[in-house]
Amino acid sequence: MSSRIWAWASHTAVLFPWCRAKFAVSLGVFVRPDQAVAAAGGFLIQFHASIAEDLAEHIEQALTATPAVTTMVQDGCTPQEMLQHALGGLPLQVLRHVTPMWACDCSRARVSETLVALGAQELRQMITEQQEVPVHCEFCTTEYVFAPQELVQLLHEALAAEQGES
Ligand SMILES: [Zn+2]
Repeated sequence: MSSRIWAWASHTAVLFPWCRAKFAVSLGVFVRPDQAVAAAGGFLIQFHASIAEDLAEHIEQALTATPAVTTMVQDGCTPQEMLQHALGGLPLQVLRHVTPMWACDCSRARVSETLVALGAQELRQMITEQQEVPVHCEFCTTEYVFAPQELVQLLHEALAAEQGES
């Protein structure tokens, strides 16, 4: 096998007709032998609830004939060209271009709110059991460490919130 052959993972378009909002999704990732991601892409098409049945059938037929996203990425297709395939040549109007970026909207304030939402009883237990409480964001891997005095402050907030509810 040639070392030029790269690993790839791809999923052909899958329709989810049982969902209230019918949609199709296709994703692909192209990985080099050194495990680096060389290219990745995908599309999601959501059918409007009022779509005409013949139009929906046209798109469903086009999706079955659409190459895997990985193939299209390797072939240098633009996102617009991928959608041309997936929509079976229907007229396509690009309303906006967005550059994807790696971002997470977690913050110390949001994590604090989450800890308060756990309630006073849970916070009391954390304070008695640990010196510090690490909270790890599974999405961006940021770790927030809460010192005991910060947990006491959050406990006061939780107690105030619980008294406000009763
Ligand atoms: Zn995060």
